[in-house]
Amino acid sequence: MKSVPEYFGCMVFNEACMKARLPKDTYKAMKKTIRDGKSLDLGVANVVANAMKDWAVEHGATHYTHWFQPMTGITAEKHDSFISPYGDNGVIMEFSGKELVKGEPDASSFPNGGIRATFEARGYTAWDPTSYAFIKDGTLCIPTAFCSYGGEALDKKTPLLRSMEAINKQAMRVLKLFGNEDVTSVKTTVGAEQEYFLIDKDVYKKRKDLIYTGRTLFGAKPPKGQELDDHYFGTIKPRVAAFMKELDEELWKLGVLSKTEHNEAAPAQHELAPIFTTTNIASDHNQLIMEVMKKVAAKYNMVCLLHEKPFAGVNGSGKHNNWSISTNTGVNLLEPGETPFENAQFLLMLCAVIKAVDEYQDLLRISVASAGNDHRLGAAEAPPAVVSMFLGDELSEILDAIEAGTAYDAKEKSLMRIGVHVLPKFPKDTTDRNRTSPFAFTGNKFEFRMLGSADTIACANVMINSAVAESLCQFADALENAEDFHTALNELIRQTIRKHKRIIFNGNGYDDAWLKEATEQRGLLNLRTTPEALMHYTDEKNLALFTKHKIYSELEVRSRAEILLENYCKVLNIEALTMLDMAQKDLLPAISKYSRFLCETIAAKKTTLPHLPCPYEEDTASRLCTLINTAFLQPTMLEAVLAEENQISDSAEAALFYKDSVLPCMAQLRSAIDEAETITAKEYWPYPSYGDMLFSIT
Ligand code: ADP
Ligand code: MG
Repeated sequence: MKSVPEYFGCMVFNEACMKARLPKDTYKAMKKTIRDGKSLDLGVANVVANAMKDWAVEHGATHYTHWFQPMTGITAEKHDSFISPYGDNGVIMEFSGKELVKGEPDASSFPNGGIRATFEARGYTAWDPTSYAFIKDGTLCIPTAFCSYGGEALDKKTPLLRSMEAINKQAMRVLKLFGNEDVTSVKTTVGAEQEYFLIDKDVYKKRKDLIYTGRTLFGAKPPKGQELDDHYFGTIKPRVAAFMKELDEELWKLGVLSKTEHNEAAPAQHELAPIFTTTNIASDHNQLIMEVMKKVAAKYNMVCLLHEKPFAGVNGSGKHNNWSISTNTGVNLLEPGETPFENAQFLLMLCAVIKAVDEYQDLLRISVASAGNDHRLGAAEAPPAVVSMFLGDELSEILDAIEAGTAYDAKEKSLMRIGVHVLPKFPKDTTDRNRTSPFAFTGNKFEFRMLGSADTIACANVMINSAVAESLCQFADALENAEDFHTALNELIRQTIRKHKRIIFNGNGYDDAWLKEATEQRGLLNLRTTPEALMHYTDEKNLALFTKHKIYSELEVRSRAEILLENYCKVLNIEALTMLDMAQKDLLPAISKYSRFLCETIAAKKTTLPHLPCPYEEDTASRLCTLINTAFLQPTMLEAVLAEENQISDSAEAALFYKDSVLPCMAQLRSAIDEAETITAKEYWPYPSYGDMLFSIT
């Protein structure tokens, strides 16, 4: 058995692998390509492809694929084998530079939001040499970007790389002003904590709703949920522990820095946190984590549920996007410094984020908008739909003092005048945590907590990077032309705090009073649902941001908004149809059958034991009959509503219709049926109960 350091990354064609297997000048050319982000010369690509293929074949691979992240939110791959005819009856294993660098998947079936006309259905994938190739299930996977033939991005990766470039460019301008001569590039870093549920596969297979939609559409609350708080960080059950062990091993082989595994708040809920890394790699890795989780769970006869809200009334699953920005010299720019100079730079970075979050609240909300996540945000288990920032009392007081130009009373009670150059040391107390804040400063990074568990982290980071790049751009514009740098810097920081402090909120985000204050006094946005949020995607200011920093063209933004709206409608349509199917084929017949049993029992009792009343049977039968009469009407209503929706061609209008008309109908159907479940004999109920599912792993 190999030790972890020995097998870590063994399935990745990484730096060490390249160095060992490539001729020296090829390796150098390759490094230069990675560093400068230039495209690869075909001669070099041929040598790299051949070395990659030899390495992959030695590790048991027979196929290769361009691995990309289309707008479906998951990854896509099309496998080609390495075989090539040789001699009369033989084959050899071949892989060319051309095949490595560019692929042409038939792209017509991927969401494109109207970008690609049908006559130009092709798209192409292009290798992103900044992410390493790896082997998964006997296939060499080459991380690629996915574009239309016109060059428009059709994936989640291309804009992410563009946004990293934008923030690099603007941050470098600012860092130059502070005299950081040795810094040549800046990268954003991300650690994405992933929540998930595990349930037994046999139970899962009996639930059509889980199979078709990933969440339960019916189900009465179990007698025990998460009330006792006995699951969080609780002892891990042996079957789950075995799963986690294998999950870690598989991820380590793929070079994923899986670090922490623990139980979460709800029964059957767990979390995995990796160590942070460069954003585009973190994004690839998060996709791999989700994929490997599903695969490994299956080996233990379990199913990993990544839906944001698999069970009503029980905490849903999210994803925490820990974000920071650091230099190639290893300095975390969100780390409060030791010297006045570092502090001024830290404060300016902090202000850049504050300004970005305030000005682009809508984009942050949009980046986590989905039908699934709408069940979480604002449900007193996840941050509210209102975006605000938590800085902690100490840092907030410092900002207040800077804004007012007054003295700051530091912990030691010594009064000192503070400007941006004299930032008092403040304790980076990690216990000073606020779990209800959507965007929390946690000592040397920000934790964006609104993401749903199934989301890719790419979108959120595109928004954060772009918005912060814009702040930094404006700061650089102001400071580069300043007569006196220090005066201008002081003034800029003070003005930014004054203008954007409304976004800072250190209190309880679940409080109703906060929502009122946020919207009525502070004028913050409360975009409660996906359709409401998506309306703002193409707002003038957002289009300006994306086009200015070359993240998206206007066409790309419009197509993305369209894809997200369509997706919202499709998800709700599938859910509504699944509910109809379950209600009409299984649930209503089951309730009817049980009522009949009760009625027959009543009749039999009346004949044999005429002197005894039968209150249980009579009362239950009458309640069930009332419920079934209500429930029976709902599918008809739902069908009528769906037919009405069919008439709407505009996707924004359709999305609003789903939210306002279809969802309430679904809720009514569910409520009648869930109530019937509580009084129907178990043997008559066609589906496993919430209790069966949540406590299915023993
Ligand atoms: P929590 O208390 O929120 O559960 P932890 O402190 O255990 O979180 O970890 C939070 C995550 O933040 C980890 O994935 C960690 O690697 C990541 N992280 C730490 N420093 C940085 C950084 N500079 N940039 C991005 N992510 C970071
Ligand atoms: Mg966290």
